[in-house]
Amino acid sequence: MTLALLATPQGIASAPLAKLVNTHCHSDHMGGNAAIQARYRCPVMLPAGEAPLIDAWDEKALLLGYCDHRAERFHYDEIITPGETHVWGDLEWRALAAPGHDMGALVFYNPEHRILISGDALWHNGYGFVMPLEIDPRALPATRATLEMLARLDIRTVIPGHGEPFVDVAPALERAFRRTAAFEADTLRVARHALKAVLTFALLDKQRLAAAELPAYIDRIDIYREFNQRFFQLPAAALAEMLARGARAIGCGAARKRPGCVRLE
Ligand SMILES: [Zn+2]
Repeated sequence: MTLALLATPQGIASAPLAKLVNTHCHSDHMGGNAAIQARYRCPVMLPAGEAPLIDAWDEKALLLGYCDHRAERFHYDEIITPGETHVWGDLEWRALAAPGHDMGALVFYNPEHRILISGDALWHNGYGFVMPLEIDPRALPATRATLEMLARLDIRTVIPGHGEPFVDVAPALERAFRRTAAFEADTLRVARHALKAVLTFALLDKQRLAAAELPAYIDRIDIYREFNQRFFQLPAAALAEMLARGARAIGCGAARKRPGCVRLE
C-alpha cells in the first residue's frame, strides 16, 4: 500500500527516491521502510534514539506485537542525532529532539522557509497518543516540553505525520497545549485515548473487524490487557464497547471518503 501511494501523482509518481528519513519508528511511519528500500534502493535514516530499538527489533518498545501492529524488518544506513543539520532537497533541515508521543522522536525544521516536519509531535488537531504516567513517567512531561520548544520556533508551515500541511500554527499549538492540560488532569483519559488510537491503527491495517470479535481480540493483545488491569478493570466486552465507539469515530474521521473507511461490523 505504501508503494502504491508513493507512485501516485500526490506522491512522487515515477521520480526516483534519494533518501528515506523517519521522524520516529512506529509502525505507521516505518512499516513501509522494507518495501521502499527494496523498490527504490535508497538509504534509510532514523533518529539515534530509535536505533537500539530497531537493532533489537524490540516488539514492545516499537509498539508492534504489543499493540498488534505490523512492520517488516529493515536495515538503516545512517542515524540522525538531535542538533544536526542535514541538507535534503536543497534545503537545510535542523533535527530537533521531540520526545513525548515517542521518546526518541525527531522533528525537522527549515529556518529559511520556516517549515516544520513534525511527525506525530504536532498535528493540526492534537498529536500522537501518549503513554500514561504509570506506564512511562517521562512521556507526558516530555510532551509539554516539546510543545514549548515548538512554540519558541518561528514556524510558517507544518507538514505533519498525519493530515494535510497547515499554516495556522498558533491555534494548533493552543489545541495541543489544551489537550496536554486535560491529559495532565486525568490519567484515565490518557490511557483511553492511547488505546483508542492503537485500536484505530490496527483497524486501518485490518480494514474491518466484526464487533462481536472485539472482546476476544482485546483480551488477546498485551496493551489492552495491561491497560485494562491497571486502569479500567472492566469486563472485556465493556472495554471493547468503550473503545469501539472512540475507534470508529477516530478511524472514520481520518479515513472518511477514502476507500476502505474503517468500520466495525
Ligand atoms: Zn507515532
